[in-house]
This record gives sequence, C-alpha cells and structure tokens, in this order.
Amino acid sequence: MIEENKFLNFSVFTIPVLNDNYIFVAKAHKTSQTWVIDPALAKPVINFLQDKKYKLTAVVNTHHHLDHTGGNLELKNYYNALILAPKNDPITADKKLDTNSKLSFAGEAVQIIEAPGHTLGHILYYFTESKVLFAGDCLFSLGCGRLFEGSPQQMTNSLNKILQLPDNTQVFCAHEYSLDNSKFALSVDSANLALQKKTTQIQNLRNQNKFSIPFKLGIEKQCNPFLRSNAPEIKKYLNLSSSCSTVESFAKLRKLKDNF
Ligand SMILES: [Zn+2]
Repeated sequence: MIEENKFLNFSVFTIPVLNDNYIFVAKAHKTSQTWVIDPALAKPVINFLQDKKYKLTAVVNTHHHLDHTGGNLELKNYYNALILAPKNDPITADKKLDTNSKLSFAGEAVQIIEAPGHTLGHILYYFTESKVLFAGDCLFSLGCGRLFEGSPQQMTNSLNKILQLPDNTQVFCAHEYSLDNSKFALSVDSANLALQKKTTQIQNLRNQNKFSIPFKLGIEKQCNPFLRSNAPEIKKYLNLSSSCSTVESFAKLRKLKDNF
C-alpha cells in the first residue's frame, strides 16, 4: 500500500519496504521532475514509477547506510538519473551536497541542512515553500537516530537546526518507529499531555495499518523527548540538575534509549 500526500507544488508518495523502511518519491505537479529519496531497493520504485508513467530525474540520499542507498545504482542506470548525496558521507554520486548547494524542485528552493550525528555527513532536505522536510535517520516521530558516527554535541546542534524550522513543517522520516518510540517517550515524560494525545493518534493509525508519517513539527516540538532535552521535567527524570547543559541531558537520554 502506497500513500500520497499532496503539497503546494508536488506530491510525495510513500513506499514501505523491508521491515520498517520508507522510500519517498516526490513528483512535481506541473513538470516531469521526479526524485526518489533514500531508495533502500530499486524494484519497488521502478514498479511504482512504471505504474504511474513517471520518469525518475534524480536519486537523492540523506546518508550512506545501505537501507537508504541500496537502490541507487540500479535506479541511476535504469533512468539515466543523477545521484545527489551528502558531501561528507561515502556515497558514489554525480553531485555532492552541502549547506551551500543550490537546489530546486517543482519551482521551489530546496535547502540542504547539514545534520551530523547518526552519520558524520547526514543531510536533510527542506522544501522551503511547501515546508516539507526529509529527515532521513536524524529525526523520527518521538525519537532520533542512533549516534553511530557523531557525538552528542553534533546531534544536539543538528536537532537545534530542526527546532528552528516552522511549526507547520511536515516531516518525512525514513522508518516507521513511532509506536516503539512512544513507549520510551512516555517512560521519561509520562505527564506530557501532548505526548499522550500523539501516542493515541499513532496507535489509531497503526491499528488501521496506516503510516504515522508525515508528522507535524510543531506537535513534535512538544512531544519528542530528544527535542526537549532542555526541559526541566526531562532533566528531573534523568536525575540531572536544572542547570546542566542540553548536550549533557541529550547524551544521557540517548544512552537510556539505546538500552531501552
Ligand atoms: Zn541510517
């Protein structure tokens, strides 16, 4: 089952693959411009594009992990598409991107946000007019990516960049982890009413086999413990003084989640 979300200038189609991965296809409304974001596999993307009679113009990656890049070369060869990938992650690409790169999709500027932590080169794609963020494995609904390569300081900076985006930003993350994440989030922030409400919504969606993404960033700012490391109630739960740094609080929270 593939879900479509329509925005101002383009649609995003979400293709579920493997255990809990999502591949996204963005298709411009007025032109044939078509991107695939983080293709773990090529086949499900080719099947979808053939069905819709779309032609892929670019393969776009947030980071180098195989469950985000496994379909890259097959898709590139099949469609003669360009691969766009982060400058500081080891990916074979036609164009390497960093914060200074100028990109556009469906007539709107796409901002590259460097967000190291999960990997050192991890980037986010922010579609500035529609306010759509492709967050890869940096931010999840009620969670964040594991620190495989980066430090708590780096990840805190990356999450701070996301916190500065508008509340009505719609976030597409690359895994369906929301329900599991809600269990940890509730364990550290049990009195949070916004979190309780969001958890009920996720449960309802998952009970109907619907995706819990995209999700609204404004609500996430109120619910996601990793975006709230600086909140007094989170620090209290972690037995940290209210004056400790956000980085220290985030590091302890992330470690707790790794062993949850
Ligand atoms: Zn990853």
